[in-house]
Amino acid sequence: MARALDGAAIAAAIKAEVAEEVKRLAARGVRPGLAAVLVGHIPASEMYVRSKVQTCGELGLYSDLIAPPETVTTEEMMDLVASLNDRDEIDGILVQLPLPKQVDTKALLDRVSPAKDVDGFHPVNAGKLQAGRPALAPCTPEGIIEILDRSGIAIEGQRAVVVGRSDIVGKPVAMLLLNRHATVTICHSKTRDLGAVTREADILVAAIGRAGLITPEMVKPGATIVDVGINRITEQADFDRFFAGNAKRTESFAKRGSTIVGDVHPRAYELAGAYTPVPGGVGPLTIAMLMSNTVRAAKMRRGL
Ligand code: NDP
Repeated sequence: MARALDGAAIAAAIKAEVAEEVKRLAARGVRPGLAAVLVGHIPASEMYVRSKVQTCGELGLYSDLIAPPETVTTEEMMDLVASLNDRDEIDGILVQLPLPKQVDTKALLDRVSPAKDVDGFHPVNAGKLQAGRPALAPCTPEGIIEILDRSGIAIEGQRAVVVGRSDIVGKPVAMLLLNRHATVTICHSKTRDLGAVTREADILVAAIGRAGLITPEMVKPGATIVDVGINRITEQADFDRFFAGNAKRTESFAKRGSTIVGDVHPRAYELAGAYTPVPGGVGPLTIAMLMSNTVRAAKMRRGL
C-alpha cells in the first residue's frame, strides 16, 4: 500500500530543531529576526503572513510585520526594502506576493539583500543554487528535499521528473534534485506526451497548478509522488471526478462548499510507493523552511 508522507509531522520536527537553535543563539546574544511585508488585503496572503509571524513568535524569532498601503509605489517599496536591508535586527526579508499591479515586483525582489533573501528569489541566490554553492534556496523546494530525506527516500541516481518550471517551485526543486545527483527532467506546458516522460519517474514532482492533471496512467507503479499543487474546487462534477466514494471529503465538501485537491489525481497516489497528500504533505514545510532559512541567514551574516 502506498505510504502517505506526513508533512505536518516533518514540519513540526524541523520547527522544534529551529527553536533549539534559536535558544543556542540566544545564549550568544543573537536573536534571528524576520521582516514580513504585506501589501493590500488578499485573504490568502493575509493568512500566510499571519501564520509566518505567529510561527516566529512560537520559535523565539523576532518578527516585524510591515503593511504599506495598497497605493504604495515601487519607489516607496524600494526605500522600505533598503531600510530593512540596513536594519541589524532583521536577518530575513519576506515580501508577500502578489504585489499590487503598480509595483515592479522583479525590481523589488532584486533590491532585497541576497544575505537576507530568505525566500531564495534573488538572482544571486538562484545563480548560486545552479552553481551548486551554498545558498538560501526557495522554501517549498527545500521542504520537498527535507520530506524525501526524512522519509528515507533515496535521491542519488534516481530518475526525477519535475512537472512545472516556475522560479518558485519547478526550477529550484529540479536544481536541488540535480545537486543531490538525481537524473532530472523538467516538463512544462509545451512538453509533448507528458505521460511518457512522467512514467519514467522514480520521483515525480508535480508543481503545475492544475487540479488532478497527473492521472494514474502517467505514474510508474512504486514511484514517489510529490504533489505540490493546491487547487480549490467548488463544482460538484469536479468533486465527483476526484473524491467520489470518499466519505470524509464528501462531508467536508458538503459543509464548506469547496475542497482542496493537488495536481495529482488521488487515484494515482494508490499506485505510488510513497506520496505527499494534499493537504498535509508539502504545504506545512514551506513555513518551517522559512524559519530555518531565517536562522541560517542570521548565522551566515554573523559568520557563525
Ligand atoms: P506557476 O503557474 O508559476 O507554474 C506552473 C507550471 O506548470 C508552469 O511551468 C507551466 O508551464 C506548467 N504547466 C501548466 N500547465 C501544464 C500542463 N498542462 N502540462 C505540463 N505543465 C504545465 O505555478 P507555481 O510553480 O507557482 O505553483 C504550482 C502549484 O504549486 C500551484 O498549485 C500552487 O498553488 C502550488 N504551490 C504550493 C506551495 C506549497 O506551499 N505547498 C508553494 C507554492 C506553490 P509553462 O512554464 O510552459 O507555462
